[in-house]
Amino acid sequence: MSFLLPVNAFNEELTRRIETLRSQNLYRQLLQIDSPQGRTVQIDGQPCLNFSSNDYLGLANDPALKKAAVEATEKFGAGSGSARLIAGSLTPHHVLEQKLATFKKTEAALAFSSGYAAALGTICALVNNNDVVAVDKLVHASIVDAVRLSGAKLRVFGHNDFDGLAKILAWADKRHKEPSETTAEREPRTLIVTESIFSMDGDRTPLRELVTLKDSFGAWLMVDEAHGTGVFGATGRGLAEEYAVADKIEIQMGTLGKALGSAGGYICGSHVLIDYLINRARSFVFSTAPVPAAAAAASAALDILQSERGITLRKTLWQRIDQFCEAQKKHQAMGMPLTTRGPILPVMIGDEAKAMEVAHRLRIQGIFVPAVRYPTVARGQARLRNTLSAAHSADDVTKLIDTLNKCLW
Ligand SMILES: *Cc1c(COP(=O)(O)O)cnc(C)c1O
Repeated sequence: MSFLLPVNAFNEELTRRIETLRSQNLYRQLLQIDSPQGRTVQIDGQPCLNFSSNDYLGLANDPALKKAAVEATEKFGAGSGSARLIAGSLTPHHVLEQKLATFKKTEAALAFSSGYAAALGTICALVNNNDVVAVDKLVHASIVDAVRLSGAKLRVFGHNDFDGLAKILAWADKRHKEPSETTAEREPRTLIVTESIFSMDGDRTPLRELVTLKDSFGAWLMVDEAHGTGVFGATGRGLAEEYAVADKIEIQMGTLGKALGSAGGYICGSHVLIDYLINRARSFVFSTAPVPAAAAAASAALDILQSERGITLRKTLWQRIDQFCEAQKKHQAMGMPLTTRGPILPVMIGDEAKAMEVAHRLRIQGIFVPAVRYPTVARGQARLRNTLSAAHSADDVTKLIDTLNKCLW
């Protein structure tokens, strides 16, 4: 007598699904590293120059952040016990939120356990199936997932295509004026969500034009500064600072896990926005508070950002970025396309298998750059996502450029 255990059938089906991924060069595996994130990482016992991380200022392993995390753990414990509305809200979270609000010059801020949770909780709290949300084609998965979950009508405009966006806004206005079958308890709304610096392309949103457009339609604007915070703007507050439009943006979102070197997400905005989110953002209400260590480390990073050292770190990062961009111009004949000026400097490859092959060649040469593939980017748009950090030396960047040129044929 032979029979298939249900669990075997289950595993067999998943195995088939994984085989499909493999055949499409889309299978992914974790790469274990035995060191902190930093200028180099330890892979298989070998140090590799690290051009993969979003730790743009090199703070993830900074002594001041580690000290703050240790001290917060000593004083407030390893765990936070509960969601913040249930077991009381620990001081390190309040300190962090005060510092975030001061840094971003907003009335208030709210910390979430991740940027993903911040997007999910905030968008779902603000809109429902009576509303329209317009998003740039290249926004992060957390934003797309959030809009889908909210039930709002999702409309995607071409990357930075504000003519396309204007059409959506006009369509939404018309739709909002039609009598709806549901007895909505409030006016329907239009929310625009975009990123300041796009995570996989490294380019920027022309925020000033966007603000003008959204004001002309009375739409709400949410800007994800995950890759802008700490890097752009005269004092590192982000691209909204660079374009002097921060006070025109209803919802400023970001993560503590990139330039801020810790983990967690945040929303900055008005008192009433934060008060509302504390009541209605389900990823905040129904989730255990981040550990005290993470909040304290992020607070320490905010202190550094606003100090002389922060200015120096940003200056160093921008020197490395300019070095890479200058070299790239010279090497254009060798197949490296020009990219935008910022810490994310992708080299477009296209084919998934080829991107993996080039990344592998780089690794053998002691350079760690990830090959980014679908579904992180569109199919056939695989790329090497180089990221620079203030922790890199000028020689490190030279080595990256030389090795890239060698490995790109
Ligand atoms: C990383 C990222 C997020 C998610 O932030 P986490 O803190 O990592 O969850 C959201 N938006 C963008 C654009 C990101 O790059």
